[in-house]
Amino acid sequence: MEFDHILIRYGEMFIKGKNRRKFESKLQSNLIKKLKEFPSVRVSKKRERMYVLLNGTDPHPVMKKCQQVFGIHTLSFAIKVNKSEEEIKQAALYAINDAPEARTFKVSSKRADKDFPIGSQDLNHIIGGYVLSNTEGITVDVHNPDVELKVELRNGAAYITAKDYPGAGGLPVGTSGKSLLLLSGGIDSPVAGFLTMKRGVELEAIHFHSPPYTSERAKQKVLDLAGELSKYGTKVKVHIIPFTNIQQKIHREMPEGYSMTIMRRMMMRISEQLADREGILSLNTGESLGQVASQTMESMNTINEVTNLPILRPLAAMDKLEIIEVSRKIGTYNISVLPYEDCCTIFVPKAPKTKPTREKANFYESKVDFSQDIAEAINQSVVVEMDRNQTEKDEFDELL
Ligand code: ATP
Ligand code: MG
Repeated sequence: MEFDHILIRYGEMFIKGKNRRKFESKLQSNLIKKLKEFPSVRVSKKRERMYVLLNGTDPHPVMKKCQQVFGIHTLSFAIKVNKSEEEIKQAALYAINDAPEARTFKVSSKRADKDFPIGSQDLNHIIGGYVLSNTEGITVDVHNPDVELKVELRNGAAYITAKDYPGAGGLPVGTSGKSLLLLSGGIDSPVAGFLTMKRGVELEAIHFHSPPYTSERAKQKVLDLAGELSKYGTKVKVHIIPFTNIQQKIHREMPEGYSMTIMRRMMMRISEQLADREGILSLNTGESLGQVASQTMESMNTINEVTNLPILRPLAAMDKLEIIEVSRKIGTYNISVLPYEDCCTIFVPKAPKTKPTREKANFYESKVDFSQDIAEAINQSVVVEMDRNQTEKDEFDELL
């Protein structure tokens, strides 16, 4: 006896009609991509259900991969057997043994095929009794069992499932459009990217790099972060923008107190132009209110002036400790804390204005023309595609 498939439950009841079809086909193709390393595994969809057919593959590594795919609520291993009492008993016993931690269980039978000679209630008793007399340390609890052993009789066969495994939740990546993530080497922006992906958004990333002030290793760190993110969805295209000239010009020609604000405005302008070129409709940052000088309400207001693309800020209302917790769970924390310098720390003024105004920023910027520098930075950008979708990802547990 062996599990032969995994039952996928997505249960986003609110998704109807056309959206539902899009949701299902994305989920199916994301699962297929994620499970590529198991050549015999197939993903099939029948009516309201999705199945991963194991075809002899070791079940647990496949389950682990499925648990990393957004859009799944819960999953269960399942066994298909003939509609015979004996086979159902054996399958039930096998399935319950996958949950050695369970102290209580109940059996719930459903009979779509009415030709089976035993009624649902009777079948519950027969199977429950068989499990009780062939296991130790587990009792029946019909109200709040640790495991619900489900027996379904339909389409001429019997399907048995036991334990529910938690899925990653969220929506399948690719069902909510695309966002351009401003990815630094810090702790916050990868978490912002992750949370955005969880809502079904595909990511491209943009990184501002200032050689020789920032090293190749600092750039590699950002690519590694993008690689980690790609494991939760689809490949992540990273646009590396040469930012040295603009930073030097700001440093030379703008008042020190405003250099940080103006640098961020330049980042937004470049990001918006790149997003337009790539057909991306929103930006995404790791900004969190009150964290540093550039993230006061006044700063956000002044920085935001230069773009009218929506800026998704999933961390805006999160505490640093909560952000760190997520970054540990998703495996980006250990990369983020590597000590390579970032373009902002090098040019950071001693006392950046915490309450900049739009008027002053516009006034200072009107003295110097940056449009040529912006166009050059975009023209000279380099694209690196990161795709580590297949790689093992042990840290991934139940996420948020
Ligand atoms: P992070 O941990 O994400 O670096 P932070 O708390 O250090 O965030 P800031 O340095 O003020 O905050 O940056 C705010 C946001 O601006 C970042 O979350 C990121 O989205 C973006 N950002 C900062 N530096 C860069 C960079 N070099 N390239 C791309 N985006 C950047
Ligand atoms: Mg930073």
